Amino acid sequence: MVKSKNLTIIFTIFLIIGVIHGLLSYSFSNFVTWLLIGLWLIFTLKIFVNIKRHREFNSPHNTAFFVILPLFVGIFYSIWGYYTGVLGDNLLGGLYFSFWSLIFALPYILFGSYSLYRCFKKYSVIYFGTKAVKAKTIGYILSLSVLIFILTYWIMFYSVIESSLLDLNLLLLLIATILIVIVFGFTNTRSSLPALTRDYIANRTKTINSLTAPKTQRQRVRTTRVTNPTPSTRATTHTTRSRVQSSRTTPTSRKQTSRMKTSKTTQVTRVKPTSKIQNLNSFKPRGSYLSLEDFKCIFCFKLPKIPEDRGRGVVVCPKCRYPSHADEFKDWMRTSNLCSRCSAPIPSNFRRNPKIISVKNYVIIYKQFLKKN
Ligand SMILES: [Zn+2]
Ligand SMILES: [Zn+2]
Repeated sequence: MVKSKNLTIIFTIFLIIGVIHGLLSYSFSNFVTWLLIGLWLIFTLKIFVNIKRHREFNSPHNTAFFVILPLFVGIFYSIWGYYTGVLGDNLLGGLYFSFWSLIFALPYILFGSYSLYRCFKKYSVIYFGTKAVKAKTIGYILSLSVLIFILTYWIMFYSVIESSLLDLNLLLLLIATILIVIVFGFTNTRSSLPALTRDYIANRTKTINSLTAPKTQRQRVRTTRVTNPTPSTRATTHTTRSRVQSSRTTPTSRKQTSRMKTSKTTQVTRVKPTSKIQNLNSFKPRGSYLSLEDFKCIFCFKLPKIPEDRGRGVVVCPKCRYPSHADEFKDWMRTSNLCSRCSAPIPSNFRRNPKIISVKNYVIIYKQFLKKN
């Protein structure tokens, strides 16, 4: 994560350079230019953090900040190329393109176009604060705004100064936007994220397993599976253990559950809901904005509910904290040691003894998170 303290330091440094250079050269545009370089650095750092997080969680949505702003930055810094006091000399003949355009504007022209493409092809929803808007709608509005803006800018600019050159970056963006809208916008071939079917998950895990897991470990997993004669008894020991585990989070219920353990109650009453849930954040799926989608089981894609799922229990992945029904989680753990959503290796003690919480508690938890949003 980028600490806001570091960002303030970066900003201050460039502010000081800007003031000094601006005063020495007696030029306001030099001052603004340095300030803009500072802001560019800060924004770039933020973008890198966002990209990293998206790679990690293969997120199907993003915030408006990271979708719209790159385009805006690309356009603005392209235009500033005409006014910059630094690196502004033109490199080409017929078009305007300087080192300034190359370093500060072109990356965002490209990244902005890529964001636009992802509005049509990858994202399902873009968040404005907590309000979700369909990504395709954003795609159309954004493309139209870009086209209108660039054309208006050119018409206004060239009607005033006839001898000036067309900006290469803006020309590229104009072409890219038109192409993206025609190819991905109007043709109705939307294929978003691959659906998380069991086949898809299994294939993906197979690939990852063959890449990461050492041979001995895989064999070991298989042998435990084979030598285990009665899977049903194993499942019961699991639930017994996990019951103890779940009670660990709630000291008040410990007595109750241990008493139940001896009296061998049915599975329906086993995972006992508790009134107070501790460590709420340890159940929060990792993602910038949470929607109801984030609390659906990663295997059956259904939202854990009461009374339908009573007694099934919920397990969240220790890494990405996305939920799954406890029984489906255990099933999956028989064939894989990786989380089916984030592909993180699940520690062997967690596989044997997953931390199960009751569906009723999980319902309380996700309602809390959605209320906060
Ligand atoms: Zn499920
Ligand atoms: Zn996970």
